[in-house]
Amino acid sequence: MQNITVPSSLLRSPDRFGGQKSGDCLTGSPIFRDDRLVGLDAPLPDTNTVVVVPALTEAHCHLDKCHTITRLDPVAGDLMTAISAQLRDKTHWTSTDIRTRATRGLIEAKTAGVEALRSHVDWGDAAEPPLAWHVLCEIAQEHEDVTLQLSPLTGVDQMAECSFTQSLARAAAAAKGALGAFVHDHAEKREGISQMIQAAKEHGLPLDFHVDEGLDDCNGLELIADLILETRFDGPVLCGHAVSLMNRDAEHVKRIVEKLARANITVCALPTTNLYLQDRRQGTPDRRGLTRLRELRAAGVKILTASDNVADAFCPMGQFDPMAALHLTSLAAHLDPPMAQWLPMVTTDARRAMGLDPFHIEDVPLSRLRLSDAPDCEGLVSGRHPLRALSPSPDSQNR
Ligand SMILES: [Zn+2]
Repeated sequence: MQNITVPSSLLRSPDRFGGQKSGDCLTGSPIFRDDRLVGLDAPLPDTNTVVVVPALTEAHCHLDKCHTITRLDPVAGDLMTAISAQLRDKTHWTSTDIRTRATRGLIEAKTAGVEALRSHVDWGDAAEPPLAWHVLCEIAQEHEDVTLQLSPLTGVDQMAECSFTQSLARAAAAAKGALGAFVHDHAEKREGISQMIQAAKEHGLPLDFHVDEGLDDCNGLELIADLILETRFDGPVLCGHAVSLMNRDAEHVKRIVEKLARANITVCALPTTNLYLQDRRQGTPDRRGLTRLRELRAAGVKILTASDNVADAFCPMGQFDPMAALHLTSLAAHLDPPMAQWLPMVTTDARRAMGLDPFHIEDVPLSRLRLSDAPDCEGLVSGRHPLRALSPSPDSQNR
């Protein structure tokens, strides 16, 4: 028997869970009942303590592109260099190739403690689903212990064509996925985003955007917020990247984040890819490829972080591990301790942004919880003590 520490932020009712308060966590001897961790008694003396959290959620990744780095030309460059390199790689994208790489990525995520993830899938120019979509749909069916949600990824200009958007929305709905697009300096982004909102309403889909992925003058983020507010869309909306928010002065940032909060839009930081691709000039970069997480959070906007690209043209290293993404994000964006307060970014809030039930520790069977030998949440986020399945000792059951 060992003591357990649980982050208060991941409990539905921390005031009724028992245990001893330690910072933003509760610590004590676990009470298990009917395959649930239902509370804590006083901590046992002279006993080691482990941390328990819900299984993790990976809200933004690319299983179709992952693990291509070893066969790519040298990729050192900016976003456009990466897009070109990855396009050239598509000559290798047979069914077997996509299946092998994506399965490897999915197993890595599961090993890191992930139970739900959203993978984008490059869609291309045709209205019909590409091969990678079909392969990933099959993989999603085969892995019953994980929710693999798919989201098409295409330039938002294409979404300005109603029949094209409807075709993607039908495919996304059939796969229980999300409707997604890439928004940068596109000429028809207003019409494209409007069509997406309309299709998402009709088909009951969450929306997903790669938006403002650059330290330039783009401001698709505010346009998305304006259109969500205008149309009163009330489904989940997740905006990834939002890097050019860094270029706005304080007054503009205040205006934009206030709109995001009113529109109930969640923003996901993707530090591996953005730190690798942004501020590519001469020498060492001196600007951070990040969004304004602290200002967003202060305004009440839900924020997330995720793994994004892994061993591909957009990020040659990386790993499918939301906790590693949180570690990097914390250092890059100054997310200060206590670290328990940031764990919803890779658990409850991430699930909510994907349109999934944001379950808490006391709500679910033990198979949906994960345990780390870390002594506290700072050690957990540091990643030195990986998450693993939680299996209670028989003598602690049904106390
Ligand atoms: Zn991405």
